[in-house]
Amino acid sequence: MTSLPASRPTTARGPLAGKTALVTGASRGIGRGIAERLAADGALVVVHYATNTGAADDVVDSIRARGGDAFPLRTTLGVAGDAQALYAGLDAELGRRGIEPKIDILVNNAAVSGSARIHEVTPELVDKIFSVNVKALLFVIQEGLTRMREGGRIINISSAATRMAYPESVVYSMSKGAMDTLTLALAKELGSRGITVNTVSPGFVTTDMNAKLRTTPEGAARLAGMSVFDRIGDPSDIAGVVAFLASPDSGWITGQRLDASGGTHL
Ligand code: NAP
Repeated sequence: MTSLPASRPTTARGPLAGKTALVTGASRGIGRGIAERLAADGALVVVHYATNTGAADDVVDSIRARGGDAFPLRTTLGVAGDAQALYAGLDAELGRRGIEPKIDILVNNAAVSGSARIHEVTPELVDKIFSVNVKALLFVIQEGLTRMREGGRIINISSAATRMAYPESVVYSMSKGAMDTLTLALAKELGSRGITVNTVSPGFVTTDMNAKLRTTPEGAARLAGMSVFDRIGDPSDIAGVVAFLASPDSGWITGQRLDASGGTHL
């Protein structure tokens, strides 16, 4: 693997040594797996979360126990001023550590879901899902770009639901479609800065988000059977793909949607 020069002095090792990565929604599930992997690859990881301080602290502790570096950052997305509040916290902590308020990698992972077929959809559900999954996404990127170094990486966690029909969660699927569209537009916009923008699209992964669908052995088997590998994904399955997109080796890939669903419904 090739290595780019570190963005700041560091004793860390790995392809991301000297890089700073912000991972939204990193206290649990897929975000946790991504945070732990990017830290193992040498990045200083900002473990963003909404309310679950104990879980975020646990992620930071596990990263530090393995010799990595990370800190937690609490901000609720989907409310007025969310992106500004997030970066005010990030700037303050980086400043406290004597590090320039810059980022190299932004992983937009935080999202909310909500099961509802078309006849069950309410305006409140649309507002809830779009405020976090679309509006906050846009402004976290807009504000993040004022701090992102040349050659940076934006990695958006979308869903296989933009490739296959998922009428059980129609609003959630729409919100991920908006993310895919934003990815394409930004990839063109940011090429002149050497910044790549891609989405990673998981199928079902074992996290709290789909716990209700896995409460019975039959339910779990149904989800597993969607993959050609006959198992539900693990957060590490997604983290590996994100780590590749964050690495110098992926520099010639942009505007792409990488399906990381274990061949769901091929
Ligand atoms: P999860 O287990 O439900 O965790 C969600 C994370 O996002 C938590 O860290 C949570 O923080 C944070 N979060 C939620 N709402 C937030 C808000 N309003 N403001 C700030 N942070 C918020 O989710 P997951 O299953 O790992 O999903 C991660 C990503 O993968 C999402 O984009 C999801 O759409 C996508 N995805 C998941 C699956 C799957 O099967 N799990 C499949 C396809 C795509 P707290 O801990 O503080 O609540």
